Amino acid sequence: MLKAQDNTFNILSEAISEGVVVVDKNQVIVVANASVLEMFGYSENELIGKNLDVLIPKKYKPSHSKNVDNFVREGQKRQMAHGRNLYGKKKDGAVFPVEAGLNPFVIEGEKYVMALVSDITLRKKQEEKIQNLNQELEEKVQQRTKALHKTITDLEDEVVLRKEAEARAQESLQKERELNELKTKFLSLVSHEFKTPLSGILTSATLVGKYTAEKQQEKREKHLNTIKSKVKYLNTILNDFLSIERLETGKVTYKYSTFPLSKVVNEVVYDANMLLKDGQRINYPDDIDECIIEFDEKILELILSNLINNAIKYSAEHTSIDLNVRTEQDKLYFSVKDQGIGIPKEEQKYIFNRYFRAENALLNQGTGIGLNIVKTHLENLGGAISFSSKQGEGSTFTIQVPIHQNPK
Ligand code: ADP
Repeated sequence: MLKAQDNTFNILSEAISEGVVVVDKNQVIVVANASVLEMFGYSENELIGKNLDVLIPKKYKPSHSKNVDNFVREGQKRQMAHGRNLYGKKKDGAVFPVEAGLNPFVIEGEKYVMALVSDITLRKKQEEKIQNLNQELEEKVQQRTKALHKTITDLEDEVVLRKEAEARAQESLQKERELNELKTKFLSLVSHEFKTPLSGILTSATLVGKYTAEKQQEKREKHLNTIKSKVKYLNTILNDFLSIERLETGKVTYKYSTFPLSKVVNEVVYDANMLLKDGQRINYPDDIDECIIEFDEKILELILSNLINNAIKYSAEHTSIDLNVRTEQDKLYFSVKDQGIGIPKEEQKYIFNRYFRAENALLNQGTGIGLNIVKTHLENLGGAISFSSKQGEGSTFTIQVPIHQNPK
């Protein structure tokens, strides 16, 4: 035993503020300094001769004694409780956290282990406090991050909504612009297109008033015809504009009826005759009395008069215009052929575009909407239009319409 060195050892161990416990190889306590006694609640000499177990809570015992055993055998210095919690047990059974360093030594051939023990209750509490604070901080950070994420998502949603609203606004702005453009175009067309025929009508009316003598009947009639044809022309333009409006707003409704083809052809040719220039003539078939068709009569009239009026307008005096009709299975083909100015090749692809007028047509009056309307109506009614043309030689416009309709 430690007898010989007792005093020296006691003096030393008492001078240390840490708890000092020395056990022999059987883990029997041979020294316990005042700090240890105070720490564990024992009075002097109460621990000497007791097994180290009395200082260790039950649930840590098995592994602990194994540890100390190994340790005594290996005889190396070491800090216990590294990476795990170590506890001590007071005399009254209270358990408290400790930190212990083990120092083996040998005296007179006997192996001993000196344990330096510190009560770390306070430190643990502080650590716990810090840990709690850290956790709280972490939670706060997480909450803030979540809130931030939500704000970002909200903002992103807001951006998407704004973009959509912006696109809608742009779209309606664009529509508004187009509408305005259409209105401006319409106004300038109307004022321009109406001016010439109106002043022609005024001139003719004034002249008619001057031919008072009975023998001037022929002159009167000439001017009255001019007035009639110009009024008809204005009427056509107005109808075209109305058609555009109806087609555009989807308000157009078609009325199917059964009628002889000759009726429409005669009417169209009759009206067109009033527009003929000097020496122009229209050749049209006179063997179509048998042909009965089922179609929108007014629309067919509008289509044919548009084509024939163009043929007259874009041809010189003393030329002829041929209207041909043929049937093929359940389809009817009309062609209107003229010997006029023709359409420049490079402009042919635009000819059905609304308001488009070819370069060589600009000296003639026109709005550039007739063919566009004709094409739209035909497409709506299951028909089609095509043309062939050579500048300076003439054009042939061909339309095809179904003879019988099967309105859905
Ligand atoms: P508008 O005759 O009022 O200008 P249209 O839509 O009827 O309008 O015709 C569009 C354009 O097609 C005309 O401006 C003209 O350039 C060309 N065009 C139409 N028909 C003929 C034709 N028979 N001969 C030559 N050019 C034509």
